[in-house]
Amino acid sequence: MILHYDKTRNRVICRWGEPVNIIMNKKSSRMERIRTIAVQLQKDGQLAKRDRERYGEHPVYSKIMHFVRKLRSNGYFPMGELTKPCTICGLEHGSAPHFDTRKRRVVWLCPEHRNELNKSNAN
Ligand SMILES: [Zn+2]
Repeated sequence: MILHYDKTRNRVICRWGEPVNIIMNKKSSRMERIRTIAVQLQKDGQLAKRDRERYGEHPVYSKIMHFVRKLRSNGYFPMGELTKPCTICGLEHGSAPHFDTRKRRVVWLCPEHRNELNKSNAN
């Protein structure tokens, strides 16, 4: 699962894989289907009412809310020009806040290193 905040679109984006059974040539095999949810945030970091109603019952909603609360308590809103370097390589360009669901903390990662967190979140 990758949970990150896209500053330019002002959205929290959650991407995860769901196992599905596929039957091909009479053989059943397991594959992973990639699902995505994007929720829009207001300037103060609150979720839009529309998205609260739409995703309130969804299994990943509590993780999204946990992430949003962490961002707010870290003082990231309004996000504006705030950019922190990637935790792994120190690059600032394209670095965005991600949520480490295992350690329950916000980690800034560049596009190249966001998969590192995906690996650890998957286990
Ligand atoms: Zn990096």
